[in-house]
Amino acid sequence: MTNTPNIPDTHPIIEVQALIKAFGLMPVLRGINLEIPRGQCVALLGPNGSGKSTLLRLLTGLSKPTAGIVKIGGWELPHEGMAVRAQIGMVSHKPLLYGDLTAYENLRFFAGLYDLDGEAMDTRIHALLDQVGLKKRRNDLARNFSRGMQQRLSIARALLHDPDVLIFDEPYTGLDQQAGATLDTLLTTARDGGRTIVMATHQLDRAARLSDRAIILSRGKIAYDGITAGLDPIQLARDYAEVTGEVVAR
Ligand code: ADP
Ligand code: MG
Repeated sequence: MTNTPNIPDTHPIIEVQALIKAFGLMPVLRGINLEIPRGQCVALLGPNGSGKSTLLRLLTGLSKPTAGIVKIGGWELPHEGMAVRAQIGMVSHKPLLYGDLTAYENLRFFAGLYDLDGEAMDTRIHALLDQVGLKKRRNDLARNFSRGMQQRLSIARALLHDPDVLIFDEPYTGLDQQAGATLDTLLTTARDGGRTIVMATHQLDRAARLSDRAIILSRGKIAYDGITAGLDPIQLARDYAEVTGEVVAR
């Protein structure tokens, strides 16, 4: 974990101020203000094209704001990008793995990118493979893995450098029920371990069940921001329909 510049732990780990993102003349995010306290699990909801992936890419420094401020752990993007990336693990819908490498070799490769090496790293890789349930498959090529197994290997990759913040972009897409349940457990473990999680998803049931807070993006703005503890998923679906004008299948 990275030391932050003289900022007490009570400070929000994610701070977004007046964030605007446009592609050419098309505004996608039109003034986002957001503070996420350390350890919170946030579900990011919204119709297709509402800017969820765009916001997540801005949080990880993969994309630059048109205007506004993004700070992670007190470090500001883009100029403190190295410090920000050291604190963030990202899992997107694309698994970002090398099919011709085994599960173990993939993690070795990415550990090298983070300048992690040596015996301690090897121990960590084996512990992560165990945690995501791929210990027995560690010497199999990633290209022969099911979508669920690739997703779990991606999570192990995202956890390699022990990041404070985990960003998930629609992690449940393409997973069957069992793989989805395994991902639920991995998410809950990460959350119980004190990590801050931001997860874009279309699954309102899961958002209500697994997260502490739900945020709905609509037309480039935050249209809903509420605590999910004790919230009935049916109520969340009603709120979703009201702020987005879309009914979601549950
Ligand atoms: P979501 O993840 O909520 O489905 P996105 O953030 O992917 O939405 O996209 C929001 C809008 O921004 C869409 O209209 C999309 O076409 C547009 N967009 C996203 N990335 C780019 C890009 N690199 N260039 C141009 N337009 C983009
Ligand atoms: Mg998206």
